[in-house]
Amino acid sequence: MVEPSFAKRSVINHHEYLPGASIITSDAIGIDKENQVSTTEGRQISFDYLVIATGHMGNCHATKTERLRQFEADYEKIKSSDTILIVGGGPTGVELAGEIAVDFPTKKVKLVHRGLRLLEFIGETAGKKALDWLTAKNVEVILGQSVNLDSSSNGTYLTSIGETIVADCHFKCTSDPIGSSWLKETILKDCLDDFGRLMVDANLRVKGFSNIFAIGDVTDVPELKQGYLAHRHALVVANNLKLLIEGGDESKMVKYCPATSPMAIVSLGRREALGQIRSVTLIGRIPGMLKSKDLFVGKTRKQLGLQG
Ligand SMILES: Cc1cc2nc3c(=O)[nH]c(=O)nc-3n(C[C@H](O)[C@H](O)[C@H](O)COP(=O)(O)OP(=O)(O)OC[C@H]3O[C@@H](n4cnc5c(N)ncnc54)[C@H](O)[C@@H]3O)c2cc1C
Repeated sequence: MVEPSFAKRSVINHHEYLPGASIITSDAIGIDKENQVSTTEGRQISFDYLVIATGHMGNCHATKTERLRQFEADYEKIKSSDTILIVGGGPTGVELAGEIAVDFPTKKVKLVHRGLRLLEFIGETAGKKALDWLTAKNVEVILGQSVNLDSSSNGTYLTSIGETIVADCHFKCTSDPIGSSWLKETILKDCLDDFGRLMVDANLRVKGFSNIFAIGDVTDVPELKQGYLAHRHALVVANNLKLLIEGGDESKMVKYCPATSPMAIVSLGRREALGQIRSVTLIGRIPGMLKSKDLFVGKTRKQLGLQG
């Protein structure tokens, strides 16, 4: 958001790295017993095998051009504001606050988070270190309160305990809902757990189905929801699909082993980051070297066979 030209490398159309695939850009809304997926446009797509990877609901309908325009608009919004309110203290809110604080040090950033600490998806020490880092960069962090964005008017925002926050603009950085609500009316409706995640077996097949797999954030795999783990799921499923398609023995399918001590890196501006690896929490240039300069974009492009 602080460097729109960077977005051109990070927003990738699926056909760029899957030139031979048939890409249908639409919402999947149904799966039936006849092994067909239906879309909002009324298409019926037959399958022998299905992989569900609907993670979180995001900018489902945005084209690449629309996404790039959105980054431009966000950049202009930041540039033209003196005071910026960020709602949400998870990774999105903390990373955005860090980017603005580093690139626009004269702007006043206020971050409001409903939880009692930042970055609740990782350890307490990490949350405390992020808070200290942001505070040192003059970001005002307000914990234990939420903001009712519907009732905001003319740059005045009301918090859950009746406090008033004044800001020229805001960014909503609360997490997107899990992308499984569409499954509630499908043959997989009984395969969702209480959190709306798809229950999978050790081979990453949806429980009770021999030809439907699920990977990534939408699954109930007991581990942190991370992109690099979603990628590991994909490799396991690709192996298993190959084996099944070639008529191999099901008992030879690869099992996925959940990551018990995964790695999380939250960037803090262009050079620094906060990293949690097992029980160790690091902040500063060293974790920053792993993520902050390029946000894994070059690495991902390379993995997809695209130019850096
Ligand atoms: C700020 C932030 C920083 C992060 N940093 C890291 C990091 O440094 N390292 C890391 O490993 N992970 C990181 N993550 C986590 C990582 O982004 C996710 O774990 C990863 O994107 C999950 O991939 P996915 O394919 O399962 O789901 P998603 O990336 O959520 O993709 C799912 C896609 O499916 C689409 N979809 C949803 N429903 C439907 C439907 N019915 N029909 C058709 N399409 C649908 C959605 O629009 C979306 O495009 C970060 C996340 C955030 C928010």
